[in-house]
Formats: sequence, C-alpha cells, structure tokens
Amino acid sequence: MASMLQPQIILLKEGTDTAQGKGQLISNINACTAVADAVRTTLGPRGMDKLVHDEKGNTTISNDGATIMNLLDIVHPAAKILADIARSQDSEVGDGTTTVVLLAAEFLKEAKPFVEDGVHPHNLIRSYRAASSMALKRIEELAVSIEGKSLEEKKQLLSKCAATTLSSKLIGGEKEFFASMVVDAVMAIGNDDRLSLIGIKKVPGGTMRDSFLVKGVAFKKTFSYAGFEQQPKKFLSPKILLLNIELELKSEKENAEIRLSDPLQYQSIVDAEWNIIYDKLDKCVKSGAKIVLSRLAIGDLATQYFADRDIFCAGRVAEEDLKRVAAATGAAVQTTVNNIIDEVLGSCEVFEERQVGNERFNIFGGCPSGQTATIVLRGGADQFIEEAERSLHDAIMIVRRALKNSTVVPGGGAIDMEISKYLRQHARTIAGKSQLFINAYAKALEVIPRQLCDNAGFDATDVLNKLRQKHASGEGANYGVDINTGGIADSFANFVWEPAVVKINAINAATEAACLILSVDETVKNPKSESAQGEAAASAMAGRGGPAMRGRGGRGMRRR
Ligand code: ADP
Ligand code: MG
Repeated sequence: MASMLQPQIILLKEGTDTAQGKGQLISNINACTAVADAVRTTLGPRGMDKLVHDEKGNTTISNDGATIMNLLDIVHPAAKILADIARSQDSEVGDGTTTVVLLAAEFLKEAKPFVEDGVHPHNLIRSYRAASSMALKRIEELAVSIEGKSLEEKKQLLSKCAATTLSSKLIGGEKEFFASMVVDAVMAIGNDDRLSLIGIKKVPGGTMRDSFLVKGVAFKKTFSYAGFEQQPKKFLSPKILLLNIELELKSEKENAEIRLSDPLQYQSIVDAEWNIIYDKLDKCVKSGAKIVLSRLAIGDLATQYFADRDIFCAGRVAEEDLKRVAAATGAAVQTTVNNIIDEVLGSCEVFEERQVGNERFNIFGGCPSGQTATIVLRGGADQFIEEAERSLHDAIMIVRRALKNSTVVPGGGAIDMEISKYLRQHARTIAGKSQLFINAYAKALEVIPRQLCDNAGFDATDVLNKLRQKHASGEGANYGVDINTGGIADSFANFVWEPAVVKINAINAATEAACLILSVDETVKNPKSESAQGEAAASAMAGRGGPAMRGRGGRGMRRR
C-alpha cells in the first residue's frame, strides 16, 4: 500500500535518450579515434592529400588538417571538439592542425585501457594536465632563439621554417622558391599585424615557377569601357586618387521626378546632368592625379574623358584591393571630389598594367610605406592553385609567428621524442598510479614520429627504436625521422625547423581537448529540442512559401 502512495519521479521527458557511464566515455573516445584516422595519413612531407567532394559538386584537394576537418562536417558531439581545436590551431598559429588532432586522439586512445579498467577519469585528467605543463616547460627550455641575428641571417632562418611547413604540401617540390617569396612578403609588411596586407592572387595557367612577388599591390584589371585602351598603361611616380563614388552619367534621373511644362526645357535638364558629371571629372583631373581608382563604376564617358587627358582609371576595384592600395601608397579613399587636397593623394614609384598569363594586372610597385605585398600565384588546375594558396597561408602564418616569438624547435618528431623521454624519466620518480598515466601521455607523444614513418612507408618500429635509443643516450635531443633515407637524422642540422609556438599550442590544445572529452560521462539527447527545431524549420518554410504563392497567383490573374 505504501508504495502505491509514493509518486513516481519523472525527470526527463519520455523518449529522452541518455547514454552514460563508462560505455559512453569509451564510445566518445572511439569516435575521436575515427576522426583522427581520417586525417592521419596527411601528416608530414610524405603525407597523402584528401579529395573532399561535397553535395554541391565542389571538390577540394587538401593536406591541411583544419580544412579537411571543416569539410567533413562532423556530427558526433564529442568528435566535434577535435574539429574545433583544429580550427583554433589554424587561427592561432596557422600550422600544426593535423598534429593537434592526432595528439588529442592519441591521448584519448592511451587513456582508454585505464578507463576500461575502472580508473576514475579525474585521476587521468590530473596526471595529463601535470604532464602537459611539464612538456611545455621543457619545450621552452629546448627552443633555440633566433633573436639578435643580422637581417640576412634571420631571413635564411625564417625561410627554413617556411620550407618545413611547405614540405608537406602539394607545392613542396618548389619549397625553397616559395619559402623565400613568403619571407620577403612578410618582411615587406614589417611589424604591421594585418594579414590582409599580403594579397594572394590566383592566375590559372603557367607553372608554379611563374609565380612572382610584387612589393606593393597588384590586382586583376577591372571591367573597362571603350576608351580604356587609349589610356597610358605605365607611369613613373604618379599621383593616385582613390574614390568611393560613381563616375557615370545616369543615377540622377532615377531618384528625382521632374515636371516640365515646356518641351524646350528638356534640353536644360539633360545639360544639367552632363554638367554635373563633367564637373566631377574636372575636379579629378585638377587634383593632379594620374591614376584614378574607384570602388564603384567608372562609366564610358569618364573613361574617354580621362583617356583624352592621359589619365589611367579603373572602376569597381574590390574593396580589399583598394584598402591595400591605400595602405601602400598613402592615399585616403575619398567619398567626394570636392576639395581634393594633395595630402589625400597617394604615390608609388612605378605603376604598370602588365600581362600575366591570360589576365592583365594593375601593378603598383615601389610604394612609399612599403607595407604591402602581393603574391601572384600561377599553376595548372583550379584545385591545385587553391591548395597552393592555403599552403602559402600556412607558411606566411609560420613566418610571422617565428618572427614574433623568434624561437624554433627541431621538427620531424625530434621535439616530440625528446619530451616523451623527459616525461618517462620524470615518471620513474613518482610513486603511485600517476606514474602509469604520465607514461601513457609520454607514449602518446610518439604518435608524431610514428605517423611520419608510416606515411613515408618506413618501418616505424625500427625507426622509433633507433630514435628512443638516440634520445636516451643524452646527446640526440635533435634527432628525428629522416624522411629521405628512412633512418634517423639531426633535424636541426637538416634545417627541419618549426616555430616553438606551433608545438606549444598543439600540446596545450590537444591536452585540453582530451581532458574535456574524458570529463564527459553522459550525453543527453533531448527529443524536444530536435522536434522544436523541426517545427521552426517547417513554419519558416510555410512562411516563405505563403507570400510567394500568393504573388504568383496574383500575377496570373492580372495577365488574364
Ligand atoms: P600539420 O598540419 O600538423 O602542420 P603537416 O602535414 O604540415 O601537418 O606535417 C607537419 C610535420 O611534418 C611536422 O611534425 C614536421 O616536423 C614534419 N616535417 C616537415 N618537414 C619535414 C622533413 N623534411 N623531414 C621530417 N619531418 C618533417
Ligand atoms: Mg604543416
């Protein structure tokens, strides 16, 4: 009787799906491992590329962890975290995106047997955090500073870092060529933080080697009207006027209503329109500018007018290009042509319109502030150039980071092996279970050299044994995988260098992600939120459908 009086407690709605406990944790770990398997083979100079084909029919070929993870569109709630850390690594440092995913998954994989044996995840998390902070400290100790070197030396060091990044990419075959180009571009923008000052323009056709760097701004010739061909195409130290207005004979009639009683007055209206535009053009010419660029259209009348006065003009210049021109030449973008003073005009040493492949390019060279650079990228297929652009972006980010933090560590798995050794040594001094967990963490770090070997077709066990032995001897701290011979080599001597910040960020982010996933023991799927979403979508559809249907019906009626 008593039990009947007791009300049954219903906490969650019927149909709520909860998965909890050890089983859930293991399943999350498995999902993360599966995600890492998707990008595993792309690591390193011998890594493979992935071709991702989406439902819209776009194909992307990429070697970049973050790009692939983004395109994969992962739906598993726990595995999504890996996509997030790849993205944040990409925006924070720009490289090491595959590394961060592999590390996080490996940390989890090593934790799995402990979880299965009933170790409380919090013990694991505590040890992992401790191991990570020790690893970071050790990296800082091992990092080599490039501070205090001459400019020429610094350039060489930086291009080594860029070459290491590029070596794993499609354009790896020409890594020296591109590395020095990237370093020049980054040096050109100096201390400015705006990445947008480096433009990358893609021109299909030609070979990779036809790519070139403009220390200044370059953009594709914009649409032009008749008369353009009569304009001069080369100037030495011209004055440059940047506008954000239309120079066209048109708009006035669209936004005014004029009533005329006498047809003869019509001519005066037409004249007024012409006067307005001629007045604007006149002011542009009087400013002394030899080059007029506008974000908006420059019509046929204006084009001819400028041509007659030996002035070059281009309308509909993309906003980012105009901004770059402004930054490089010192010009200020004007929204009116009244009172143009000399200060708002920019200048450069040479302006030229040049043929690049099938395109014509407007090129501003020798700019006074110097703080811009444009890389014109040539190559075959579209997908190829796109991937080349992404790779260059990685390299640019790396050079900027290295320039700022100016410490580098040996790559090719050398730093990972060294930290792994260090942690193992430390673990021996600890009594208790924590020793096992720190050992597991140390073992997980070996995934980088192992994967580099696997991807190159080397015997990973053999190479790793050699590496362990070398590092344990105490003199081989810089030894990593030799990608050319399949043995081991001094990465530092071979100039396989990475900015320390890449590793620091990767280890930090991967540990955090692993700990986050380990601390989750229950996933609740709320049926309400899903159905609510469904309903919202359905009503939105109905809302959109309604007026459209009515509109169509109405027009049909009128026609009849
Ligand atoms: P991520 O997206 O993580 O940057 P990559 O495919 O660029 O992945 O591979 C980076 C890894 O390849 C780094 O661990 C780096 O040390 C290693 N690596 C790059 N160049 C070489 C080389 N020439 N020899 C050995 N390892 C290299
Ligand atoms: Mg890389």
